[in-house]
Amino acid sequence: MTDPLPDPRRAYDPEDQPESTDDQPKEDAGSDCSPDDTADPQHSTLFTDHARRFQSLKYVYPVISRRAAGLSIGIDLSPAHRCTFRCVYCQIDRSGGAKSRADSLESCGQNAKIDMELLADELRTVVESVVSGEIFQTGRFQSTPEPMRRLNDIALSGSGEPTSSPYFADVCQIAASVRSEYKLDELKPPMKIIVITNSTLLDRPTVQRGLEILDGAGGEIWAKLDAGTEAYYKTISRSGIPLSRILSNIVDASGPRPIIIQTLMMQVDGEAPSEEEIDAYSDRLLEIRQAGGRIREIHLHTVARPPAESNIAPLDHDTIEKIANRIRRHCKMPVAVFH
Ligand code: SF4
Repeated sequence: MTDPLPDPRRAYDPEDQPESTDDQPKEDAGSDCSPDDTADPQHSTLFTDHARRFQSLKYVYPVISRRAAGLSIGIDLSPAHRCTFRCVYCQIDRSGGAKSRADSLESCGQNAKIDMELLADELRTVVESVVSGEIFQTGRFQSTPEPMRRLNDIALSGSGEPTSSPYFADVCQIAASVRSEYKLDELKPPMKIIVITNSTLLDRPTVQRGLEILDGAGGEIWAKLDAGTEAYYKTISRSGIPLSRILSNIVDASGPRPIIIQTLMMQVDGEAPSEEEIDAYSDRLLEIRQAGGRIREIHLHTVARPPAESNIAPLDHDTIEKIANRIRRHCKMPVAVFH
């Protein structure tokens, strides 16, 4: 994971963008909550750009994702870039001005109006292009390797926390309807609908309603957990929301259906997470399981795109493999590593 991730906002119509201020993300910023967080240097252009014809889309952004081993259609539910976290590795520059703190649970998602009709139109347009194969004749998607010319998922993600959107459940319904309409459930393997979340809002009734819609429509939750101790969690997420709430939400969300834990580890000020922190993280995973949570797999990755913060750097190959092995030994859970 050495190259920048695709930026969902590159699919926006520049005419629709707010004027730049100090509180706006940098032009080349993105979020680490995007579906494509891996990149292959051989195909770096492919992984970091979109076909020209998709540049006018506002909410929907197709990307080739090595992590998904295929094409992922992202839906950005955070056009205002609101998030309950302010992760040190986030691509969105959340430093300075009104963005000097993470959004509160109450304020996150406010003023994030979404044109649902437009979003649905954009999703159908991109799906039709993928189903027909037309997308792979277009722009940089032409260089997509043959094994990756498959639709893996629709991912609810973007430039902030997708579950904070008041439209979350409605967007889940649209994604589920499109999946059925285009018979994407009959693909082999069936197309998934992935929710990429920091887990802070999984206990909201509207979020749970959306997740229940997805349970019958190939839904999958990728829940972020980057730390095992309160202190390290606070260092990484820079959120006022306690770790205990994240863990409790993960337990509750992973009881009815197995989930993916997505974990990003990195160097902070030149230091990788300590062995004590890795073991504490592993203990939290075991506690989730003991409390009835079901973890299908852990996705372990490191910083792939240049973070907004200069003291953050990726882990090297050996270090992340050692961490993965330590977690496997401790938890006896499958860990997939994405470099
Ligand atoms: S949880 Fe929020 S702050 Fe953290 S990487 Fe994702 S969008 Fe950025």
